[in-house]
Amino acid sequence: MADDCLFCRIIAGDIPSDKVYEDETTYAFKDINPKAKVHVLIVPKVHCDNVAQLAKTDPSELAHIVEVAQHIADDKFHGSYRLIFNTGRDAGQSVFHAHAHVLTGQRLDE
Ligand code: 5GP
Ligand code: ZN
Repeated sequence: MADDCLFCRIIAGDIPSDKVYEDETTYAFKDINPKAKVHVLIVPKVHCDNVAQLAKTDPSELAHIVEVAQHIADDKFHGSYRLIFNTGRDAGQSVFHAHAHVLTGQRLDE
């Protein structure tokens, strides 16, 4: 855990969050500033700066995050969802702990 990392502190329970899913390696919670009817962040419990680093160090965890996204969307919107990994400050990444944005719960194609 990185003491100065917001998502590590959320995973540790130091900062409250609205939990959607949890297992041994992965935590999912509602985004504080939702951009869709359902906007969930899925994070690996082990700190890692971004998705590219996660793909290198623990590809099975990255695959697992996709499975969790599918599971959430199966539950909320018949399996349809958008998965976003902002990577790098200039792409809009503001928290440097790898996370998937899952947008679902409504049509996103209009
Ligand atoms: P990024 O911009 O790094 O791709 O995504 C970070 C996301 O974290 C943003 O969508 C932002 O709304 C969300 N966020 C920032 N601080 C908090 C917080 O304290 N709690 C929760 N639940 N989400 C947060
Ligand atoms: Zn972290």
